[in-house]
Amino acid sequence: MELLGKSKEELRAFCAALGEPAYRGGQIYHALYAEREFEFARMTNLPAALRARLAKEARVTLPEVKRRFASVDRSVRYLLALPPGEEKGAAKATSVESVFMPSEGRQTICISTQAGCAVDCHFCLTAQLGLIRNLSAGEILAQVLLPLEEQKTQLAPQTNVVLMGQGEPLLNFEPVMAAVRIMLDPEGLGISPKHVTLSTSGIVPGIERLAQERVRPKLAISLNASNDEQRDALMPINKKYPLNVLLEACKSYPLRPWEHLTFEYVVLGGVNDLPEDARRMVRLLAPLKSVKVNLIPWNPGELPYQEPSAERIEEFRRILNDKGIPAFVRYSRGRDVMAACGQLALLQIGHQPSTSSVF
Ligand code: SF4
Repeated sequence: MELLGKSKEELRAFCAALGEPAYRGGQIYHALYAEREFEFARMTNLPAALRARLAKEARVTLPEVKRRFASVDRSVRYLLALPPGEEKGAAKATSVESVFMPSEGRQTICISTQAGCAVDCHFCLTAQLGLIRNLSAGEILAQVLLPLEEQKTQLAPQTNVVLMGQGEPLLNFEPVMAAVRIMLDPEGLGISPKHVTLSTSGIVPGIERLAQERVRPKLAISLNASNDEQRDALMPINKKYPLNVLLEACKSYPLRPWEHLTFEYVVLGGVNDLPEDARRMVRLLAPLKSVKVNLIPWNPGELPYQEPSAERIEEFRRILNDKGIPAFVRYSRGRDVMAACGQLALLQIGHQPSTSSVF
């Protein structure tokens, strides 16, 4: 029995099935997620006999780190080996990537929810892999636990998690939410819901389902275009869930008092960076309450897009701000190790970073 990714209730049921008191499941939960203790022999909150039994009857599997790439900006990109999946068509071993980004007072961990992705956004390298397989709750959680444990001597007080790596989180809903519930549980990883953000390409049924969840992360929509024609060309998923349908789901989304809806906009030079694009964005977002926009300048790489000029980005930001829409420019971290937005998967399609240290 694999224990990583199991909820407290599942661990209690597991202990009860072993003939142990159910509360031992709660102790395993605490050891795994609050203490980040992954070896049974070191779970000193359990009796020695149970530790020995768990070693025979259960396991805790962290993915093997195939490589680490350290950026000059102190980000670390992890390439993690994963075993073959159990789903149909997922019979091959694969790998997935996550990125640890330390900054003043906090660390942000960008994690993947699927190996590859089926959504086919044209500006994203992960799309070139296609969907390899869904990740389990344990594999999603491990991408947070592993860097936190590795970097434990230099952790800042606050941890942010962004589900913005490989994959569309809302197309792997159950395992993603099982992992998020453990992240947000004060007795689990204890991360504040204000600090966990799920980013979607706009899977409307998934947004509606997320709205029903009692415990949920913040929501970000990867928008990247201001009309259907432009979005159809960049993100074919828009043909299935066009802007009016997507924005209607956003309008009905129940925000908590402290919450805003984030719209991400990858700024592609000469494609979606004109002042008229910004003005259309203003009209599009005007009916929504509590929104903010993150403008992400395109990271030059393998795909045929161009980096926007600093002047264009600034003008875009100013047009949104002047109309009362808070907009921020987010430069990607880890560019030198290809950990920047849209670059995850470069390693898996055979490119190597040039300036990083590999360890
Ligand atoms: S941007 Fe996200 S949803 Fe779109 S192809 Fe890339 S990983 Fe998938």
